[in-house]
Amino acid sequence: MSLFETTTIQCPACATTSDFEAAGSVNADRRPDLRDAILDNTFQNVTCPSCGEAMRLEPVLNYLDVELGLWLAAYPPRQIGDYLALEDQVQGLFDESYGAAASEAAQTVGASLRPRLTFGWPGTCEKLLLQQHGLDDVAIELLKLDLLRRLPEAPLRPGVELRVERVSEAGFDFIWIETASEDILQRFQAKRALLSEIEANPDGWAPLRSSLTQGLFVDMQKLYLGAGRDAA
Ligand SMILES: [Zn+2]
Repeated sequence: MSLFETTTIQCPACATTSDFEAAGSVNADRRPDLRDAILDNTFQNVTCPSCGEAMRLEPVLNYLDVELGLWLAAYPPRQIGDYLALEDQVQGLFDESYGAAASEAAQTVGASLRPRLTFGWPGTCEKLLLQQHGLDDVAIELLKLDLLRRLPEAPLRPGVELRVERVSEAGFDFIWIETASEDILQRFQAKRALLSEIEANPDGWAPLRSSLTQGLFVDMQKLYLGAGRDAA
């Protein structure tokens, strides 16, 4: 089932408040159009009825996609600082729905699902894109860390993320994007050979892979957000 609820937001341009239908839950197997809308960044785009300003509703969403093998919980970007608590909460939700605490039938479905936690639309869209192309999202986060060491300049700062925008035979189109506004700051390409190098050296990357996969928020940003799980 795909569930929608009424959300009230205030227009940033004219301050008019309006009600919109926001998705609380998306079943992409029944509504592949919603998967496509997340992938092409049209999902939950709305227009202010008073002044016509284009706006986008923040994600507060559970997403199930058995065909792609992906289950995720998406939260607004401003909640990224609470990722440790949300990882625990979302893991609990997954366990009840498709994991250890679910029915046998649900666990069978769950075995083929990659559970993830995301913040904001760019990260959510990227998880779908990588899954669609059969890519290991952990390896892609390792590639980003590798790229940070190679790039002459990177607009790395809080609220700005590095995301894959397109996957091709040759490699990946990356964007530096402001999470909340979705403004793209920079674009560059990386060759697929760089990913192959990482995949050919699993031992060298094992410590970072281990840090990234502690919890369902698989994102390089967790490496510089506070003390992390090791300190707890
Ligand atoms: Zn307006």
